Amino acid sequence: MHLTRRDFSKLTAMGITAELLSSKPAFPAQPSGKKVGYAIIGLGRIADLHMQGIHASPNSKVTALVSGHREKAEKYAAQYGIAASSIYSYETMDKLRANSAVDATYVCLPNSMHAEYTIRSAKAGKHVFCEKPMSTSVTDAEAMIAACKSANVKLMIGYRCHYETTNLAAIKLIRDGALGKVRSIQSAFGFNAGANEWRLSMPLAGGGPLMDVGIYCLNATRYLTGEEPAAFSAYSTNDPQDPRFNHPNSVEEDLVWTTKFPSGIVASCSTSYGANMQGYYRVYGSKGWLQVTEAFSYQGLHLTAEYERDAEKEADRTVHLDQLNPEKIPHQFVNEADHFSRCILTGQTPQSPGEEGLRDMQYIQQIYKSAGIKMA
Ligand code: NAD
Repeated sequence: MHLTRRDFSKLTAMGITAELLSSKPAFPAQPSGKKVGYAIIGLGRIADLHMQGIHASPNSKVTALVSGHREKAEKYAAQYGIAASSIYSYETMDKLRANSAVDATYVCLPNSMHAEYTIRSAKAGKHVFCEKPMSTSVTDAEAMIAACKSANVKLMIGYRCHYETTNLAAIKLIRDGALGKVRSIQSAFGFNAGANEWRLSMPLAGGGPLMDVGIYCLNATRYLTGEEPAAFSAYSTNDPQDPRFNHPNSVEEDLVWTTKFPSGIVASCSTSYGANMQGYYRVYGSKGWLQVTEAFSYQGLHLTAEYERDAEKEADRTVHLDQLNPEKIPHQFVNEADHFSRCILTGQTPQSPGEEGLRDMQYIQQIYKSAGIKMA
């Protein structure tokens, strides 16, 4: 891989380095053999995947659980060989401080709880991996960063795609100039949300599909361009007949936004809780295009591209790429655990630190403002 110094500083600013852009598999175990111990806070769907990833990672292990459901915690404790004394409730989790088997926590709770549990983890002296979206407000995101700094612990936000092979390959193609001058990006990600999901409640979710899945499109437009947005324009709609979206605490149902980047690239993105939208992006440049479907999924990512290059024979001038990523669940979660554990063991800063989450919170705030939606 060849990166110019300018490329490298752009990628580093985006939390993506040459190490991650290499095609090598997950980071190797530390020579010391030390494994970072994690307490998982909130035992829902994403926590299950993270536990699989941590368990499969050579430098990480699950050593404690924090849950409001003792039975569920006992089931996972049996699965991962965790002592009963290392199961905590939300009320007792501050006792993690005294548990030397726990180096870090994984915060896998509804969005509005991320700030409280990140700050409590930091105060207990533990490094923190916090799921996206980092928080439900810019103020909370800033408080989380400050708490981790003051406790001298690391904070990583769960941006899976920063550690994912196909997304990194798309970035590399663009940085290598394969598409020429990038001009336009389209992206979408959404799903038809179940009626009783906490995601539909403004107090718990802090926002709708933009906070939950639209954030993938927002973040992708930033890592694909290597630029920070200059301006946003957004529209949102809710079906007034749909009981999921027509009460005072409801979140937005549909949201579309456009982003203008300093170089002149424009991106148009859509997200929804009312319709299934397979996550994808398309990038159009002066020499060609690329597309990734299932771009934000746990597996099945598919990159296609077509672009013109200099070649003597006309038949060699058009390049066609068609790459289906064979990596399976929990590969992406292993990558995240490997990376954070390595940062903890070696003193490195994570590729997706709190500051990266804060930037997205600032942009989400601007998008909501443009759409006329008031954040908490
Ligand atoms: P989930 O509903 O499956 O799990 C949430 C967990 O929080 C449950 O164990 C639940 O018992 C617990 N909880 C504690 N207090 C709660 C309360 N007051 N209301 C509801 N649940 C409560 O949710 P999830 O899909 O695992 O999402 C958790 C977080 O992970 C969210 O912030 C979400 O955005 C994020 N997430 C990230 C990814 C990713 O790929 N990075 C994927 C899905 C979810």
